[in-house]
Amino acid sequence: MFIAANWKMNLDKVSISKFCDDLYNYKFSSKVEACIFPPMPYIDYLNNLIKDLPISIGGQNCHYKLFGAFTGEVSPKFLLDTGCEYVIIGHSERRTFNNESDNEIKLRAQSAINANLKVILCLGESLFNREKGYALEFIEKQLLECLPDDFRNVQVAYEPVWSIGTGKIPNVSDIKEMHDHIKKVVFKKTKKKVKVLYGGSVNVDNIGQILSVINVDGVLVGGSSLKVKDFLAIYSAAVKHLNNSI
Ligand code: PEP
Repeated sequence: MFIAANWKMNLDKVSISKFCDDLYNYKFSSKVEACIFPPMPYIDYLNNLIKDLPISIGGQNCHYKLFGAFTGEVSPKFLLDTGCEYVIIGHSERRTFNNESDNEIKLRAQSAINANLKVILCLGESLFNREKGYALEFIEKQLLECLPDDFRNVQVAYEPVWSIGTGKIPNVSDIKEMHDHIKKVVFKKTKKKVKVLYGGSVNVDNIGQILSVINVDGVLVGGSSLKVKDFLAIYSAAVKHLNNSI
């Protein structure tokens, strides 16, 4: 079970330090892995603050080249050097605001894999595609176009675009259907099993419902990961869920 906290462009040095104080009073479980994706300039700072805790760190994106004249970009090698284990690739905000295409996302994912980072590959349909009944078809196409050829250390995050930051989530049968579909498409193409996280308005109130879906392997949390109390409540719900399902 994996809990990913995507802080996006939020939290500064002072608030990160306060967040980490509370983490030291919490007892983490070996059954649930947590990873925080802080703003890039704070990766090193956060890494030092949580070096004694069982929490991984990841980058929110990386470039498809290791070095070069790409102002404002970050190399997967730099992420690795600063202690990152994971990287998010293809987040819908990058697709929308930075015009990242499926092909570019595939290149970025491949470059991260080659640099020995673990990839969280984000996919998600628009409300239009969901309402018209095209969601499965859309996600299958997006997945096949973004899937790196050398498929290693990848988890998929299913994040309906209409759910991110809106408070709306798909119903549990739609999540189950989509996660099943993603797992089948990946297996057909690569002969490998893939873990699928759900992302989009996960919060303390709906985490139980989301984790009750049998093929949800974890969650990618944005807004609700910014308050340490909520982040730990979501983490605790995952531990409780696993303990109850044994
Ligand atoms: C996200 O940005 O990946 C996300 C899921 O955001 P939120 O939880 O705020 O919807």
